[in-house]
Amino acid sequence: MAQVVKRAYKYRFYPTPEQAAELARTFGCARMVYNKALEERTRAYTLEGRKVSYVQSSAALTEWKRTDDLAFLNEVSSVPLQQALRHLQAAFANFFAKRAGYPTFKSRKKSRASAEYTRSAFKYRDGALTLAKMDGPLNIFWSRPLPEGAEPSTVTVSRDAAGRWFVSILCQDAIRPLGPTSNTVGVDAGITALATLSTGEKIVNPRHERADRRKLAKAQRALARMQKGSANRQKAKLKVARVYARICDRRRDFLHKLTTRLVRETQTVVIEDLTVRNMVKNHKLARAISDASWREMRTMLEYKTQWYGRELVVVDRWFPSSKLCSACGILQDEMPLNVRTWECACGAAHDRDVNAAKNILAAGLAER
Ligand SMILES: [Zn+2]
Repeated sequence: MAQVVKRAYKYRFYPTPEQAAELARTFGCARMVYNKALEERTRAYTLEGRKVSYVQSSAALTEWKRTDDLAFLNEVSSVPLQQALRHLQAAFANFFAKRAGYPTFKSRKKSRASAEYTRSAFKYRDGALTLAKMDGPLNIFWSRPLPEGAEPSTVTVSRDAAGRWFVSILCQDAIRPLGPTSNTVGVDAGITALATLSTGEKIVNPRHERADRRKLAKAQRALARMQKGSANRQKAKLKVARVYARICDRRRDFLHKLTTRLVRETQTVVIEDLTVRNMVKNHKLARAISDASWREMRTMLEYKTQWYGRELVVVDRWFPSSKLCSACGILQDEMPLNVRTWECACGAAHDRDVNAAKNILAAGLAER
């Protein structure tokens, strides 16, 4: 039976100067409403021990719009402003449930510029998406089609640090579970190879990445040489953001293909929980990128296995996957990082990463 899931489709788009100005205004107003409501809730909470609800924040927004100082809030679509208040409400709900820290102010420089439009604030017809307060549809680069008969429920517009515009369209989608298989696979996270499978296959980093990383390191060095506050520094910053964004995009694309393939081919995927490792601060570029992709890959595997009726097992104990012989189970005393292949006393010859992946698979299947 098909399962109905909400799925986001993200595309790049190219706004007209008028649309860009309208969106920049909307981002600014949404951020301001969020911050102002946060300030008010904080004041009520610390001074009066009183919790402010979404309804009360929404009523306050109506009042703000009536004052001369804040009348400009009327110039943008009201929906993204309401959505900002909903996000704040969710942030407080997470805080009170101890799932997150106290909500923080959004800054123009550090926060992602975005605005969320619900049903009443956009039109989607014949492949054209038009937002409230705009004359014409957005010029979207449809890298893949929306599913047949898709009914978008929410549209989120954003601009990244590299100055690129994106629209993320949330749709209901029917997903059919895949046919049964009894295959299982263990995945070992790496740095030189992105991942190694217990089948012996090594997943190498995407093509282009080596060159892109060199460009990134070069751009970062250039940025470090620039005077603070200078126009050239601004330019150098944008350059770093662009190269970084390209690396992330290519990675994501690659990870989507890899995780879809793993989920298609196997019933059970076993991975390591690397949160322990991530707590060790390491600013080396290669490690940072590899940790980020590992987190992203785990997230993708989590929802894709769920979508397609497969299983993901996360080995959550810290166990010596590299030091254990997967053939006889004997633990080696030590296994320095530079040892790539080794031979156990039992006679088994191992590739370090394949052996680790096999142990991860065995541990996951045993834990299940
Ligand atoms: Zn052995």
